[in-house]
Amino acid sequence: MDPIFLDERLVPIYSKVRQKTRLSKEDGICLYQSSDLLGVGSIAHVARIARHGSTAYYVYNQHLNYTNICKNRCRFCAYAKDRQESGAYAWSLAEVARRLKERIDEPVDELHIVGGLNESLGFDYYIDLLKTVKQIRPDAAIKAFTCVEIDYLSRISGLSVDETIQQLKAAGLDMMPGGGAEILNTRIHDALFRKKSIIPGGSKSSKLFTKPGSPAMPPCCTGILKPLKSGWII
Ligand code: SF4
Repeated sequence: MDPIFLDERLVPIYSKVRQKTRLSKEDGICLYQSSDLLGVGSIAHVARIARHGSTAYYVYNQHLNYTNICKNRCRFCAYAKDRQESGAYAWSLAEVARRLKERIDEPVDELHIVGGLNESLGFDYYIDLLKTVKQIRPDAAIKAFTCVEIDYLSRISGLSVDETIQQLKAAGLDMMPGGGAEILNTRIHDALFRKKSIIPGGSKSSKLFTKPGSPAMPPCCTGILKPLKSGWII
């Protein structure tokens, strides 16, 4: 049974997707702007089933956000706090271990570790953090530290970005998440996170991490400040 579309502009797009006809740029803009979320989802479902059937993959992970104190204060970030603010925190390694052990019976196969740029934490903290996690969860992959953090760690350690990554990998880092450094358009970068000094440091760490021999590559943020017919939207 065909879905019912509240936004009638989606009907011809739905037909195109069913016939496996390539969508136009105008179709894409229509999908992006449509408020008929269930309609857009129905179209996406048809495309997904055509490509992958009903197979779905997912990661069972645990997030460890070791500190919310951050000196950058990016415009969009509702997470970061100044040191003096109520609710500001930085976990000790004992607290990290406690949180890991608390969920040790769950089939966690990835630890996702990111935090703010907290100037009270030295480079040793990050090395010991990775070792602690690896010791308690030796079989789980550690996905940690955005390029923003890697660039920052390079500066506080006095090491090159390459050396910083090598030391983190030796301590247990398996892969990196995205986090802004992959945004290479300066207009978008400045609008979203002007204080992040990640170009070129962040993009350099992306490239270094993904050079031959590394098992993963960082994902890229999409869907923000897309150029449409006129102007930019968030
Ligand atoms: S660097 Fe990260 S934690 Fe810090 S303000 Fe920006 S988005 Fe938030």
